[in-house]
Amino acid sequence: MKATPTASRQPEAAGQQPGADAERPACVHITGWSRGLEVSGGGQGVVSHAGLALLRHLADKTGLTGGLSRALATPPVLVHDRGRVTADLACAIADGVRVISDFRVMSDQRELFGLVASVPTAWRTLKEIALGGTRADRRITAAVNTARRHAWAQVAARHGALPGVRLADRTLDGVICIRLDATVTAAHSDKELAEANFKGYGHHPLIGVCDNTGGEPLAWMLRRGSAGSNTTADHLQVLDAAIAAVPPGLRRKLMVTCDGAGASHGLIARLDTLAARRGYELTYSVGWALGEREKTALRLVPERAWQAAIDGRGEVRERRAPDACVNTGCAHRACWIEEAHVTELTGLLRCGPGGDQLHAWPAAMRVFARRERPHPGAQLTLLEAADGWRYSLWATNRPADTRGWLGQAAYIDAAHRVHARVEDAIRTGKDTGLGHFPSFDYQVNAAWLTASMTGQILLAWLKLLALDGDLAKAEPRTLRPGAARRGPPGPRRPAAPPENPGVLAMGRGDHGRVAAHQRAPASPLTSTKPSLRSRKENPGACGTPPPGRQPGHRHTPALKSRPQTGPADAQRQPSTRMKYQG
Ligand SMILES: [Zn+2]
Repeated sequence: MKATPTASRQPEAAGQQPGADAERPACVHITGWSRGLEVSGGGQGVVSHAGLALLRHLADKTGLTGGLSRALATPPVLVHDRGRVTADLACAIADGVRVISDFRVMSDQRELFGLVASVPTAWRTLKEIALGGTRADRRITAAVNTARRHAWAQVAARHGALPGVRLADRTLDGVICIRLDATVTAAHSDKELAEANFKGYGHHPLIGVCDNTGGEPLAWMLRRGSAGSNTTADHLQVLDAAIAAVPPGLRRKLMVTCDGAGASHGLIARLDTLAARRGYELTYSVGWALGEREKTALRLVPERAWQAAIDGRGEVRERRAPDACVNTGCAHRACWIEEAHVTELTGLLRCGPGGDQLHAWPAAMRVFARRERPHPGAQLTLLEAADGWRYSLWATNRPADTRGWLGQAAYIDAAHRVHARVEDAIRTGKDTGLGHFPSFDYQVNAAWLTASMTGQILLAWLKLLALDGDLAKAEPRTLRPGAARRGPPGPRRPAAPPENPGVLAMGRGDHGRVAAHQRAPASPLTSTKPSLRSRKENPGACGTPPPGRQPGHRHTPALKSRPQTGPADAQRQPSTRMKYQG
């Protein structure tokens, strides 16, 4: 990208005289840098962080910069508009800035970005936001939420609708899915309220993300390191903030998921209240503890009540039997065992021998259980060790009379399993400033968390509004020029003209980026490790069948997961889901 200085870029320089600023509407002034910007191959003025210009432009165009500018406006007009600085910081963090001194990646490119705040000004801005307390927080949240309304409307205009929620091989359209999860971030130095916890030492932030827009953060809360997992008050606050972050027109059909670590009676009670509102639909799927009453119920489940669980392709999750034949791609029914099963425990818990054991819980709540082959080394309860299955339970209010695939146990299981996608959002968040808290001061770190989450929001919008194909699914690491940000900070090398101006005028650091796009991004549904499915398809790549770990559970006669026609997966039925009915 070549920056072409034009007359329209001059007001940035005039911004150094505070008197000249007062005359101009702030948002026009602070977003004027991109006027006259041209993108061309080769030439002079080559920049290495071209993606930053894209993110910054997106922040301006969605109204985020202007909104932040109004949210953080101060009576004396400052040289550096605090909204502009906050938006720039978010862009820089999204671009890979891990420490605040690296913020100069923007100020170093004054020809492109105009007058950018210095590192001390970025620090000062974070401190001012911290001093502003809940009022500043509320105003920033409102600015981000207003920009989201605009950005999502543009996403809907571009794609026809907001993306749906993927559940196994199906997509649930017209529903906004909020996922709540907490994560432990490590602190490597003494930081306020960093405390020892079950994973080490640091903080314990809680976030709510939107699944539809690829794990876009909707709400977040920095918490002390020892904050409990099942803290109801924190979860309710983040849940309410996340719902408020969804544009009003889209709040009527919601789905909320949370794992067992975040589950509590208070959370389910609130979700039940929200679901009961007239004109609103809210389905929740919340992890459930495996207690004594559940263990008793599990022992009573007849074998035929367990249904096969499905994988991301809507097919039965299965693996090779311990005594399978040598042909790892074979179609022998005896050579494959089902990996996981699902059943409903509500009946046994509500009408079992001990009476209604869920009387304290909402009447609409149902409890499901999944049993899986445990991984080697998994910590098992006595029950699990005795019967060779690992159990996970969850509660949902999906009505028992739900028609179609959505009401089937296999899909109710799939709908809870995909909560794991929140892990992707947290992992990429940790790649985008989450946990790299710069200060000792807790409130400054909370302001940094806001900037970091805003950066992740911009990346989510960027993928949906400006990118296609693999890039639209890529992770931040892939999207940003890797090499330039990896090394220790030091004197910057002046950007050299590109070796091949015909390709794209990017700095040297960007060449890795072109190559990186060739890699297929990891599917958020599955791990990046070669899956069982791919082993089946490519026996040559990993020819030995996985070793049997548990006594094999053969297919239940009612289920026919593999066609007898031939071994090729291509010939397999797209799904066996219809067989689960009844
Ligand atoms: Zn076989």
